[in-house]
Amino acid sequence: GQRSYLIGLVGAGIGPSLSPAMHERAADELGIRYLYRRLDLDELGLPATAIGEILAAARLAGYDGLNITHPCKQVVIEHLDELSADAAAMGAVNTVVFTEGRAVGHNTDWSGFARSIARGLPDATLDRVVLLGAGGAGAAVAHALLTLGAGVVRILDLDAQRAAALAAALCARFGAGRAVADRLDDGGAELATALAEADGLVHATPTGMAAHPGLPVPVELLRPELWVADVVYRPLNTQLVTTARARGCSVLDGGGMAVFQAVDAFRLFTGVEPDAGRMLRHFATL
Ligand code: NAD
Repeated sequence: GQRSYLIGLVGAGIGPSLSPAMHERAADELGIRYLYRRLDLDELGLPATAIGEILAAARLAGYDGLNITHPCKQVVIEHLDELSADAAAMGAVNTVVFTEGRAVGHNTDWSGFARSIARGLPDATLDRVVLLGAGGAGAAVAHALLTLGAGVVRILDLDAQRAAALAAALCARFGAGRAVADRLDDGGAELATALAEADGLVHATPTGMAAHPGLPVPVELLRPELWVADVVYRPLNTQLVTTARARGCSVLDGGGMAVFQAVDAFRLFTGVEPDAGRMLRHFATL
């Protein structure tokens, strides 16, 4: 009979995730039998540390793979048989493929951002990039930018230690000086200086989501020569996206990263490359 796929998403509070709709629609379009189920830690009443048991249970139940999200992207690693080189370097996994009795970890968050910026801002100069936000999304973005050949990524975060730790880890992988942590002082002088010298800005804090409305950088720092990429994708048109567009900047919203991480995971699960253009259009309707 026809091969079918059973995939799960493991994380906390994943009820609103758009991944099930994205994956199942892509499979439907390809005529592939594919179920994408949520395994929500909150609903199961399980802590992140139960990820090992969940992995074993999913394997036993015949799952072909899992997407992994907050708060399990790091803790899952110790339960895997093998890691892709990039997932190992980043210390974060968002995709697990069960293959020939082995659990193999991958990271498509960074490749998703890399493909999104290559598609959405193909002419963007990457010599000097400012990254605001050094959490999970910021770490994936920084890995993508430096893999794409960015000269220097300047990282700022309210949590200065987080920015410093990310910059140090990136320099160890990509070379001294490729990433620098700047202070986010009260007056915003270092952000202003960094942006005045930058080719582009990537925003990777929660600012702009419904629960965290607002503009993450002062409007006057958004020069038209600066390209601006937001990773926030709910809503797609954040205050940063609309303001930067109005100021004449080239702008990339967070939808591309969300879609391309799913595109790459779908390919890892099935061996088939889904139609990214169709998935982007579908995503915009969700
Ligand atoms: P996180 O909590 O891991 O990291 C957020 C970081 O931002 C923290 O280090 C925090 O200190 C910092 N921060 C918060 N407010 C700040 C401010 N005003 N200035 C400077 N730094 C600030 O969160 P995350 O998982 O990295 O997610 C961040 C955002 O990215 C969320 O909105 C999430 O939805 C989005 N995201 C999008 C995608 C995508 O595919 N497009 C993928 C992952 C996350």
